[in-house]
Amino acid sequence: MDIPTVEVVDTPTRRAEVWPLGPGDAVLAGGTWLFSEPQVHLRRLVDITTLGWIPVTVDESGIEIAATCTVEELANLSRQLPDQRPDWLAAPLFRQCAGALKASFKVWKTATVGGNLCLSFPAGSMISLCSALDGRLVIWGPDGVDRQLPVPEFVTAAARNRLAPAEVLRSVHLPAVALRARTAYRKVAPSARGRSGVVVIGRRDAVADGGRLTVSITGATVRPYVFTFAGPPAEDELRGAHASIPDNDWTDDAHGDPDWRAAMALLLARQVCAELT
Ligand SMILES: Cc1cc2nc3c(=O)[nH]c(=O)nc-3n(C[C@H](O)[C@H](O)[C@H](O)COP(=O)(O)OP(=O)(O)OC[C@H]3O[C@@H](n4cnc5c(N)ncnc54)[C@H](O)[C@@H]3O)c2cc1C
Repeated sequence: MDIPTVEVVDTPTRRAEVWPLGPGDAVLAGGTWLFSEPQVHLRRLVDITTLGWIPVTVDESGIEIAATCTVEELANLSRQLPDQRPDWLAAPLFRQCAGALKASFKVWKTATVGGNLCLSFPAGSMISLCSALDGRLVIWGPDGVDRQLPVPEFVTAAARNRLAPAEVLRSVHLPAVALRARTAYRKVAPSARGRSGVVVIGRRDAVADGGRLTVSITGATVRPYVFTFAGPPAEDELRGAHASIPDNDWTDDAHGDPDWRAAMALLLARQVCAELT
């Protein structure tokens, strides 16, 4: 789809060239969402893919994923990491979460991790991935100052987040502790290839890293809920965590009723805990 109101597409190659960003301007990443809906308020696009960010940087501290990293580049980590970092047992989760998007390989090649995070839809599976693996965002401010935020604090409601006007998401960092963990993944959707209704991810840290068990619930809820237990939780602990999710935060849309999502989230949380015990 064309956006006929757009008069200018800027292609910055340096940080300083990204701004100013006003009300009629939008950051353009993969464009898979921007070009899929009318955007009558837009006059200018600022294409951040021309900044030339390295998509994925792996080092001892973990993985730095640029906001412009495509879903395909991210999914490839599931194949690449076992050779590079055989002790990073969370490797399968990258492809699993990429597969949770209701999108074809053509969208994978273009859609970016940052675009998915910034849209902040409940079915945003890059949110699922980064919440489960303790992702921390780096956000560029228009004043040249950076700030950091954990992913579960970034998304506040369906299509709502803490990105202030004119801020740009630069990257997300996944720490090595989370990448060393064993993970268990569950997704349910009303139809086989449908948009995710519930995504539950369990993460069991290595004994040397404390052996904690983390359960992250996304899709079912309008923002991520992440619960960390000292080890496998007892049934009442798990129920207590689940019950702490406010009634209004269960997602209510065409892809599933809130009651169904709440019931499935508890069932799948029990399953991932059992798998990781
Ligand atoms: C066929 C299809 C299926 C889809 N399935 C799903 C799905 O299952 N779940 C889901 O959540 N989404 C889905 N989407 C929506 C969307 O395409 C994806 O979320 C995708 O990851 C968005 O990335 P993008 O790079 O194309 O974003 P763009 O379209 O370029 O941008 C999306 C929004 O984020 C802003 N933005 C992008 N990058 C940044 C940044 N670094 N800093 C600040 N703002 C930024 C843009 O200004 C815009 O408002 C789907 C889209 C299509 C076309």
